[in-house]
Amino acid sequence: MLIVHNTLHRQHAGRHEMFRGRLVPCHESPDRLDHLLAELHKRPVGTITEPGPLDEALLARIHSPRYLQFLAGAWDEWVALDPANAELDALPSVWPVRGFRADVLPANFAARMGLFSFDAGTPLTAGSWTAARQGAACAVAAAQAVASGSTRSAFALTRPPGHHAGTDFFGGYCFLNNAALAAQTLRDGGFERVAVLDVDYHHGNGTQSIFYARGDVLTVSLHGDPSTEYPFYLGYADERGEGEGAGCNLNLPLPRGTGFADWRAALGRGLDEVKRFGAQALVVPLGVDTFEGDPISAFTLRSADYFDIGRDLASAGLPTVFTFEGGYAVAEVGINAVNVLEGFGS
Ligand SMILES: [Zn+2]
Repeated sequence: MLIVHNTLHRQHAGRHEMFRGRLVPCHESPDRLDHLLAELHKRPVGTITEPGPLDEALLARIHSPRYLQFLAGAWDEWVALDPANAELDALPSVWPVRGFRADVLPANFAARMGLFSFDAGTPLTAGSWTAARQGAACAVAAAQAVASGSTRSAFALTRPPGHHAGTDFFGGYCFLNNAALAAQTLRDGGFERVAVLDVDYHHGNGTQSIFYARGDVLTVSLHGDPSTEYPFYLGYADERGEGEGAGCNLNLPLPRGTGFADWRAALGRGLDEVKRFGAQALVVPLGVDTFEGDPISAFTLRSADYFDIGRDLASAGLPTVFTFEGGYAVAEVGINAVNVLEGFGS
């Protein structure tokens, strides 16, 4: 397995996220990746490399130009509001909900923060853009290696995660959708039908929305029931795609407290759908926040279960790209993620 590592990830280090009326320390922290890297050094499941420059044209096919332009300048604009802001994370606090206009582009930076986001849990920092771009480059490089046939599987070892980011919005700790970039790269590399099978605890709303009207990319997500779990407003079972993408989205929401036997049965349904679709390559947004010890999630998977997840995913027999997503029981993040990769390769 090829592992493409984001060496610049530490530049995105949020201080606080808004949670129930308080600013609390960010769950999505650089030490998550340190634990994963340390575990990979103990149990080398593949070759670790760094990505080349990011393909700007590809990035602009997944994300809207005005969103990318906003992200590129956001930190400078934030500090321009008040030099003291350099010591604070930028967080949105106003959003254009139903009845407001989303077609206008307000000059006010706070207004544009809200236009291009969907929550106040995703701090934008001085290095967020640099880190997110390098992460996107990791996902693209991983997919290019798989598409070229130089490796059968690859893992984008990166943060911030990506699966909540849509065409023109950030949120859920995500800015650029690494899984979508990987899927598009596989399409461009000659695979005519690509499946995304998202196993993070949270619904992959960004990836779903990016491919919702496309018939060439299947999106499947197993996740906490959005009626009680973040991101709440997408991820229900009746969302099946639209237009050419009708029938090309499958959501498998599961109740809080779901254990491995039921979760694994849902994974089996997801894999059946991937097969039925006739996918030629697979992208797995890999979150390990399904773990019983995760502080913001409510499934009860144990560390040993992650070997089986890897084996089940390998049973699809497809060229596969993993992108690293959630997982906030920091000390166990490395063990659980590497268990998946080890199970996949065994
Ligand atoms: Zn998650």
